[in-house]
Amino acid sequence: TVWAFTAARVGPGPAAPVLVSFEDTTELENAGRMRRDFVANVSHELRTPLTALLGFVETLKGAAKRDPAATERFLGLMEREATRMSRLVADLLSLSRLEKDERVRPVAPVALRGLIRATLESLDHVAGAEAVTLVTDLPEEEIRIPGDEGQLGQVIANLVENAIKYGGRGGTVTVRLTAPAPEPALRVPGVRLEVSDTGPGIAAHHIPRLTERFYRVDNHRSREVGGTGLGLAIVKHIVSRHRGRLRVESAPGQGTTFTAILPAS
Ligand code: ADP
Repeated sequence: TVWAFTAARVGPGPAAPVLVSFEDTTELENAGRMRRDFVANVSHELRTPLTALLGFVETLKGAAKRDPAATERFLGLMEREATRMSRLVADLLSLSRLEKDERVRPVAPVALRGLIRATLESLDHVAGAEAVTLVTDLPEEEIRIPGDEGQLGQVIANLVENAIKYGGRGGTVTVRLTAPAPEPALRVPGVRLEVSDTGPGIAAHHIPRLTERFYRVDNHRSREVGGTGLGLAIVKHIVSRHRGRLRVESAPGQGTTFTAILPAS
């Protein structure tokens, strides 16, 4: 526990009583430490691609520029690092915007079935590149819930992209949506949006930490697939802004299912 200590004279003159107060500032200290850790993490995450980029520029300024094949290769690598930085900055902006609006619940009607279809269509090429089959299991009729279409689209995209990237080549990713029903996890009826993969799964001790910023189960794999380490943190923020719950079920060798439980009204 961290205590803040203050003393002040109450009233004029040297004989006035002194008021001494102690205040538990543990939470404040924690918030300060988390902010410092976050800034350190962001700096590190930005510096890594930047260092690589500068290295490639140096190489290109040297002997490589007379070799068209090498030039082509280095430009490709530079593009990859620049893309990584740009994705990181975009995710940081999303997070800071989400934090700002945390208490305001978005309530425009969102047609989830259409949104799932449109989002999967935009990820078709990503799935194709990994030979992943995308499967949907959707209700017959359109489901509308109060929310923010852009943000819910981001939830679907982040979960499906992860399922494709970490689920392994040649796997299957299933997106399921349930019709509104009484929901024990919420106080109101809700819908379930499930994204499952047939991948290697996640060991139990990692699961509680998955939505922490920059937490990765496998650093190398995340870098390889161009992950920012912020995808699930963003998903969690969006789901909680919608007054929903996020669940993860996984076991090594059994695949993984992420479920967003969202209020239907
Ligand atoms: P990243 O940008 O690294 O993908 P995320 O916040 O989206 O960051 O995910 C955090 C970590 O959780 C990933 O680095 C990965 O190790 C793990 N992860 C996420 N989704 C899955 C999944 N479907 N299967 C296995 N591991 C996953």
